[in-house]
Amino acid sequence: MITVGSEIFNHDVVSLRIKHASKFSSASFSAQHVDYIFTDAHIYGNPAWSWADDHSSATATFTCTDSRCKHQETVDANVTSEKQTGKITYTATTEMNGRTYTDTKETDREYFVGHSLSLNGDIGVNFYLDLTDREIADGAKVDFAWTVNGTEKTSSVTLSADDKYACGYKATCKVAVAEMTYDVTATLSIGGEVIKTDTYSVKNYADTILTSDDFRTKYIAEKGEEKYDQLVTFVKTMLDYGSKAQLTFDRNTDALANGGTDYFTDTVNASDIASTMSNMTENLSSYGLEYTGTTIVYLTETSIRHYYTITDQDTFDLVKDNITFDGVKVGYTKKGNEIYFEKKGVAAADLDVAYTFSIGTNSYDYAVLDYVKRCLESDKVKPETKELVAATYRYNQAANTYFGR
Ligand SMILES: [Zn+2]
Repeated sequence: MITVGSEIFNHDVVSLRIKHASKFSSASFSAQHVDYIFTDAHIYGNPAWSWADDHSSATATFTCTDSRCKHQETVDANVTSEKQTGKITYTATTEMNGRTYTDTKETDREYFVGHSLSLNGDIGVNFYLDLTDREIADGAKVDFAWTVNGTEKTSSVTLSADDKYACGYKATCKVAVAEMTYDVTATLSIGGEVIKTDTYSVKNYADTILTSDDFRTKYIAEKGEEKYDQLVTFVKTMLDYGSKAQLTFDRNTDALANGGTDYFTDTVNASDIASTMSNMTENLSSYGLEYTGTTIVYLTETSIRHYYTITDQDTFDLVKDNITFDGVKVGYTKKGNEIYFEKKGVAAADLDVAYTFSIGTNSYDYAVLDYVKRCLESDKVKPETKELVAATYRYNQAANTYFGR
């Protein structure tokens, strides 16, 4: 066996077996002779590389340099990748005849790699980011901004290991019910340096759920057709709910979340809704308070606010540190003699949950749907408010079905 570069011409066997010849010593003017190596191994130079579109794999094609042969051999390469600021470098490595060959490719880093909706209760859009553990340790932060009637609203999330999901690190921007069609700009910074921005809205992803065949196919494969139908209904009630809030609070009314056509128009009757509320006025004088009303706040979080007038400050002072809402001690917001206590962050499927407000030894129950019921019963409530609370009810019912409540 003769291998390249290792043995000199063997006269006995060469005539039958030799395919390739290469110069062994340089042919200079002073040289007395030139030695050749004859071998049956192909003689390869650098290969031609071929990469998969996503750079996950690569092959190297070696072509024999002997003009009479030109034999080709394609081998798989081992591909590694390294994420750096703004780019990913892919390195393909392979070996041929004991020699290592490499090729590299660079691509821009996307950072923002997906979206979804935050459906658990708060309305929000999730941005998924492709980041390294190192970048999380260096302080990866996402700042959100969106402009509502000329005023910029902002929030931010500093990412941690807990935010890691299969599709990337998740940063959620909560928005108010009336803000589903606002574009939210997400700005990623690492260690204080701005890296990349992305723009998305709740409405964008809702449309994906409702119209994308690809989404539908994947969702049904994972969770089944019934769950998909429940999701679609839930999202439609959410878009109606958002549209009614937009009309009530004058938010981006040229771009309604449901596109201007209501998905659901069935009448919601006050009698459809069970009352859970207590007599809110009972025994309050012994705490120096008088109940003045309850409202629902449709801000970034849906909140229940109970309003009171302080009728006797000294009496109220005796109990003011012993007030709980939903089992949690709460403070209050005071303006003159008027105060309110707030239960924030009522999730979609919890709109029919009665939250207990306790003061002293007295407790009072109230659910968001109690407010809905009272609005539907009242003849003093504006028509658009009635439409908003009816949409609130449908949204809650669809959430209950979707979450299996
Ligand atoms: Zn060859």
